Amino acid sequence: MALKDKVALVTGGNSGIGEAVTRRFIQEGAKVSIIGRSVETLKKMKEEFGEDILINQGDVSKYEDNEKAVQATVEQFGKLDVFIANAGVFDGFAKFADVTPDALAEAYDFLLDINVKGSFFGAKAALAELQKTNGNIIFTVSGASFYPDGGGVWYTASKHAQIGLMRQLAFELAPNIRVNAVAPGGTLTALSVIPPLRPFVKIVDNDTKASSIKKRNPLQLAQMPEDHVAAYVLLASDEARAITGEVISSDGGLSVRGL
Ligand code: NAD
Repeated sequence: MALKDKVALVTGGNSGIGEAVTRRFIQEGAKVSIIGRSVETLKKMKEEFGEDILINQGDVSKYEDNEKAVQATVEQFGKLDVFIANAGVFDGFAKFADVTPDALAEAYDFLLDINVKGSFFGAKAALAELQKTNGNIIFTVSGASFYPDGGGVWYTASKHAQIGLMRQLAFELAPNIRVNAVAPGGTLTALSVIPPLRPFVKIVDNDTKASSIKKRNPLQLAQMPEDHVAAYVLLASDEARAITGEVISSDGGLSVRGL
């Protein structure tokens, strides 16, 4: 029970990596509040976890939705110890040269509003409560935060930007709040390609995706969301009290060979 009596808020906690983190945090003794867009999957999580979970429908790219979720979390569970900025969207490896300037601009706003501005807003909305608990923040970044070809330019730029946000916040918020990141490699989830880029990308089936992920990492893993949760548990727990400004890569060894 590494997270006994902790309270966490996880964005995008209703599917993929966020759902796996939520499930594991509850097993480790935490109460978890999640923000998601789909009412249907949010309700499913509520049915499964009952009093251990609070569901918040919202859009992380809107400051007030982050703020409302933080307030609701503290009303329900009394405090906030951990904020996890995990919600994200993908560009489907769309090629810069193929995309029209209009679609480029629309895709830029759409993707960076969620992946980057959503991370800024969530951290800001959680800040005052985290200061009260000497809490911590974890960003879900990516292999695309370090290497090319983990996505197209929109996704890669957004994931690099989150590293800058994490590092500067770790500096500014010390000594009270620790700020870290987990960088998963390619993982089998339903991570969605944003609408403005759909005409420019090939949607691949799950088997093709699994074999392409396997080929890219030295451990040859088609990673599942559950493969990454231990890194979040460690960073969120008091055992990591000396760790801030760090990224745990959970990617089958991309640094050994690149993407
Ligand atoms: P996912 O689609 O299962 O989860 C993303 C969640 O974010 C979904 O629940 C989605 O509805 C939510 N979301 C998206 N936009 C939102 C918004 N505006 N407001 C609120 N919620 C919103 O995919 P996932 O792969 O679990 O993605 C989680 C994180 O992991 C993302 O940040 C992604 O970039 C990162 N990541 C994924 C992979 C991968 O290969 N799947 C690899 C590295 C990093």
